[in-house]
Amino acid sequence: MSIFVDEYMAELKAKNPGEPEFHQAAMEVAESLEPVFDRNPIYREMKILERIAEPERVFLFRIPWVDDKGEIQLNRGYRIQMNSAIGPYKGGMRFHPSVNLGVLKFLAFEQVFKNSLTTLPMGGGKGGSNFDPKGKSDLEVMRFCQSLMTELCKYIGQFTDVPAGDIGVGGREIGFMFGQYKRIRGESVGVLTGKGRNWGGSLIRPEATGYGTVYFAAEMLTTRGETLEGKTCLVSGSGNVAQYAIEKILDLGGKPVTCSDSGGYIYDEAGIDRDKLAFILELKNVKRGRISEYADKFKSAVFTARDDGKAFNPLWDHKADCAFPCATQNEINAEDAQNLVNNGVYLVSEGANMPTVPEGVNLFVEKKLLYGPGKAANAGGVATSGLEMSQNSLRLSWTREEVDARLRGIMKAIHKQCVGASTAYGMEGNYVAGANIAGFLKVADSMLDQGVA
Ligand code: NAP
Repeated sequence: MSIFVDEYMAELKAKNPGEPEFHQAAMEVAESLEPVFDRNPIYREMKILERIAEPERVFLFRIPWVDDKGEIQLNRGYRIQMNSAIGPYKGGMRFHPSVNLGVLKFLAFEQVFKNSLTTLPMGGGKGGSNFDPKGKSDLEVMRFCQSLMTELCKYIGQFTDVPAGDIGVGGREIGFMFGQYKRIRGESVGVLTGKGRNWGGSLIRPEATGYGTVYFAAEMLTTRGETLEGKTCLVSGSGNVAQYAIEKILDLGGKPVTCSDSGGYIYDEAGIDRDKLAFILELKNVKRGRISEYADKFKSAVFTARDDGKAFNPLWDHKADCAFPCATQNEINAEDAQNLVNNGVYLVSEGANMPTVPEGVNLFVEKKLLYGPGKAANAGGVATSGLEMSQNSLRLSWTREEVDARLRGIMKAIHKQCVGASTAYGMEGNYVAGANIAGFLKVADSMLDQGVA
């Protein structure tokens, strides 16, 4: 580690104690940016990276709500407005028991670079709650979302901060939050993205993150003159991102063979085809069931329950060509990364945010895998949220084909930026460095233009 990274990290850790995910995300970026600082000392002099790592604003608030038994429940809500140098804050809301300030800071920090890469004018933010929607009735979820928005509506707006979904926040939750915002503020504006089609949502937004991750993979493959046709693909998760990653893998001729939830994973050697995917969508989005039920229904599949006592996740230990982690952070540990390499996987495109631990990232880069880090590979979701904002402002709805073509074009542009930046700094093929450098430069130059703020 260089003296700069050493000092930067020591200060960041002292200021943000007990936030390991935030430290991890910050460290990766700082290491990637060293050659940029050597070539352009102004960024270091103006403390640009230090300023990017300090949120512009953080809101922390109480969310009381009443459950179906009439008992009072209490959760904690957060919104982090991280950086507005290139546009209004933009980033999802996550509802999961593991949510805390450190997790959201890592996500908000990543979001700043990701949004910069999309080519659209969006700053970075993130929010959420330690609320667990699992096992709650629709009415409980509604009361919770209404209580949350009663407070959050004071801090967001179509020109200031536009939240979207993330883990545990899909169309249902966005609907409840939007309804409450409208009731309190009396205005029907695009203050959230991921809205329903009938009330301002964009076609392709639900699909965008998963589709985009696979488009990014396709772009990486073209650098080797290959396509996804016939490739065996490991996918984790079975939520929004995983579902549409599987769909796009099928569209492009690949063969998805796994998916998972927090209870375990299924391996379907025959492949997850369109009928089986339809079953997953119904199971997860309507019945809100567990992925183990897939193996009850389809005999070609084997379910393996999650075993926290195991040092590795067997999902990543199958022969395959490509891997699409689409569940959560740090879901690929060092041993999983080694297993992927040993099993012949040579492409990893991250639908989830920071799903690979640093040792795994280093292994993928060292072994010259086609490795698309989350901030580049999963930027299609927020990019399409940006397109939803544009349509709301124009009071128009673009067709499915038009939005999909724009998404594909944006993923191509992100890929091009990553390749361009990594090549300019002598690290051709290193998408981690490319994404961090390209994402940083646009924000950093905007901050220089706007003075010390
Ligand atoms: P989602 O619909 O809630 O699905 C999350 C999936 O991951 C579920 O299958 C869930 O299983 C599993 N999962 C979550 N936490 C887990 C844990 N600790 N251990 C094991 N499995 C876990 O969420 P999503 O929107 O697909 O998000 C997935 C990832 O993509 C996240 O990293 C998110 O930040 C990232 N992402 C999402 C978007 C977007 O537009 N939605 C955009 C960019 C990046 P259970 O249901 O059993 O918990």
